[in-house]
Amino acid sequence: MSENNPREFPAASSLKVAIIGAGLGGLTVALALRKQGIEAQVYEKARSLRPVGAGLTLFPNGLNSLHAIDAGLVESLKSAGSKGCMVNMKKSTGEMIMQNPLTLEEKYGQPMLNIRWSRLQEILASALPPDIIHLNCRCIAFEQNDKGVEVDFEDGNKVQADLLIGADGINSVVRQTLIGDGSPRYAGRLSWRAVVKYRHELLHPDESTFMIGSEGKNFTLIDVGGGYIFWSAGALSTDESCLQSAAEVKSRVLEVFAGWAEPVQSILEATDANDIVERPIYDRPPLQSWNKGRVTLLGDAAHPVVPVLGQGANTAFEDAWELGECLSHAPSIEAALTGYENSRIQRTQVIQVRSAFQGARSYDPDAEAFVRSVIEQAQMNQSEFEEWLYNYKPCVF
Ligand SMILES: Cc1cc2nc3c(=O)[nH]c(=O)nc-3n(C[C@H](O)[C@H](O)[C@H](O)COP(=O)(O)OP(=O)(O)OC[C@H]3O[C@@H](n4cnc5c(N)ncnc54)[C@H](O)[C@@H]3O)c2cc1C
Repeated sequence: MSENNPREFPAASSLKVAIIGAGLGGLTVALALRKQGIEAQVYEKARSLRPVGAGLTLFPNGLNSLHAIDAGLVESLKSAGSKGCMVNMKKSTGEMIMQNPLTLEEKYGQPMLNIRWSRLQEILASALPPDIIHLNCRCIAFEQNDKGVEVDFEDGNKVQADLLIGADGINSVVRQTLIGDGSPRYAGRLSWRAVVKYRHELLHPDESTFMIGSEGKNFTLIDVGGGYIFWSAGALSTDESCLQSAAEVKSRVLEVFAGWAEPVQSILEATDANDIVERPIYDRPPLQSWNKGRVTLLGDAAHPVVPVLGQGANTAFEDAWELGECLSHAPSIEAALTGYENSRIQRTQVIQVRSAFQGARSYDPDAEAFVRSVIEQAQMNQSEFEEWLYNYKPCVF
């Protein structure tokens, strides 16, 4: 950097970038930057990239972003996961409400891909040189000036960088230092989830089943490939506290879903209590800006959503691709970050607001009718959509 002009942009290839967080967003942005010839170091607080007991659904927007970063990566994911071909919607009694065959690949060039979180993280991490991922490094603060950013870690170490990317999730320390908007907001529901190697006559290969109850509860079962089923359950709860022991958690989820039709009872019984993750559901309201100087945010640190549209990781992949593009084409770090923020904020705001609304409605007493109408609207083509939109008749109460 020249002394006369401290904001002059170092050639992208000589930029020193520090990424906080080796989650799905942090790993993907490291890959996206490498694609542009930019070396980044990733700092992760965990001691190892241990498996997270969850499955994820990747949609064409996320897969197309990963494909733009590294086409081979998407092929590896497809071999490891399950291409979703059908979504079943059922009542808690087991009665089928509707079946939605998926045609995303024909329309958008990529399928819906269900995969274990741990496999996805492994595949992303294995595409990076291992020496750029620094484990057991908990970021506690940073300071920036015109010349760079200094990042502080819990163990007393410091790192200097030209650019800092906070990809440290919904409780982001980078966001707190940058924006300081406090804790995430509780969405009023608890969730339970696990990944199990499991077979059942009601669970067909490459299918997802969404079961919905009228009392603010739902249960999802997804084939995530390799013989594994990801189940995920949610229930309204005014109390966001989690139980201490695995056995208590298993008893609670069995009690909450007592009386639900198969395969709910069988898969819960078959799941090892130690594999069940109980979590309150949180999100945050959208931000109007998430950059300052040489620091920006990405993924859940920037725009966390409640898990309903399956877009948290997918939009993190979009962020990663776009940030890489902006950094390689803009004349300065500031211009790159402004371009990144401008192109990302409006889209992610819509997804955050839509997720919050749809998430809340999915637990209402008439959730079944609501979810059915969402699926039907999603199947409309443009002229049908216009007809639905303009055919509104004010009703007389
Ligand atoms: C039940 C459930 C189901 C979901 N289903 C889907 C789905 O189907 N599709 C989808 O797209 N998304 C889904 N999501 C959302 C998705 O998992 C997240 O949006 C995504 O993982 C966000 O990635 P991230 O890298 O931004 O954050 P995270 O995955 O939270 O990663 C943040 C990383 O930063 C590290 N870290 C945190 N603080 C520090 C610190 N101070 N210093 C260093 N490291 C730190 C953490 O250890 C972690 O590794 C789901 C989420 C849940 C809970």
